[in-house]
Amino acid sequence: NREWHLLSRPVGWPKPEDFALVETEVEQPGPGQVLVRNQYLSVDPYMRGRMSDAKSYVAPFELGKAMQGGAVGEVIASNAEGFVVGDHVLHWLGWREYSLVNAPQAVKVDPELAPPSAYLGVLGMTGLTAYAGLLRTASFKEGDSVFVSGAAGAVGSQVGQIAKLKGASRVIGSAGSDEKVRLLVEEYGFDAAFNYKNGQVSKQLREAAPDGVDIYFDNVGGDHLEAAIGSLNRDGRIAVCGMISVYNNTEPAPGPRNLARLIQTRGRIEGFLVGDHYDLQPQFVQEVGPWVRSGELKYRETVVEGIENNLEAFLGVLRGDNTGKMIVKL
Ligand code: NDP
Repeated sequence: NREWHLLSRPVGWPKPEDFALVETEVEQPGPGQVLVRNQYLSVDPYMRGRMSDAKSYVAPFELGKAMQGGAVGEVIASNAEGFVVGDHVLHWLGWREYSLVNAPQAVKVDPELAPPSAYLGVLGMTGLTAYAGLLRTASFKEGDSVFVSGAAGAVGSQVGQIAKLKGASRVIGSAGSDEKVRLLVEEYGFDAAFNYKNGQVSKQLREAAPDGVDIYFDNVGGDHLEAAIGSLNRDGRIAVCGMISVYNNTEPAPGPRNLARLIQTRGRIEGFLVGDHYDLQPQFVQEVGPWVRSGELKYRETVVEGIENNLEAFLGVLRGDNTGKMIVKL
């Protein structure tokens, strides 16, 4: 078994020296455990937070131990009731080739219903994040105009398309390359999109949303958030999902300078965590699953092969190498 350990807590951008790929023995499952041969590993922006030791909603990765993350694989030995060899399971002990998982932490998934990697993305954690953040936190209703940043990523691409499918009046996205912008408009059906690297975000947003926005789904923070507050309509809502533009900062980022606009707009900003919204999972799969199967909701995955490239894949997410969910295939 090869697994990725965190050796030191990165300061600023993570460096390869902060990590090591370590060989260990594969152990047999103890009582109540299954041994899983992982097939797909998830790399996600939130993992950057777990590499630091700042107090957060989830414990930091421990130094000198395997990191953790979403993974899907096949049970190859079972010592737990309800699991047999050949079952496919979703669990949280990624960043390694083989995982010993306690049965309550393993969720069976059906590879016939959807490709296994979909349970990490479009029908998994990032999909539910889009669904819960848009519908519950931002209280989306038909006719709203919606702006989403990180729009070509896993969460963002789904936010825009769910909004469209549920009757948004206008959906605007921003992303970091012209190719991603083209994908948003030509394949995902966004009404407008812009490359935030091509000019001031506030100006580009005003042009893309001349009538303002009712909802901003924030994946990025920084100047995107300030621009969205500047374009917010009366009773507008901002769902703060992530702020990837500041995850590698060594100093706190300056706040939006125009918060006073929330007074005149009666605007609301609210952060949320997907972990609080798993009660919506059945409803999410019931509503979004058929759209995925029919192709009405499109999704991409960027697949990187090999456990040795797990770290590079993670760094790639922070850089924007991915379109849609970044997946490591073993
Ligand atoms: P993505 O698939 O969206 O990948 C991250 C993307 O962020 C990159 O592809 C890159 O695209 C973009 N990016 C990187 N740096 C910057 C920057 N400085 N400015 C603008 N964009 C940047 O990841 P996810 O869909 O998994 O996550 C999206 C966001 O949602 C993250 O902020 C994440 O932390 C958050 N999240 C929050 C959850 C919650 O419970 N609140 C749960 C899951 C995710 P580009 O080429 O466009 O720059």
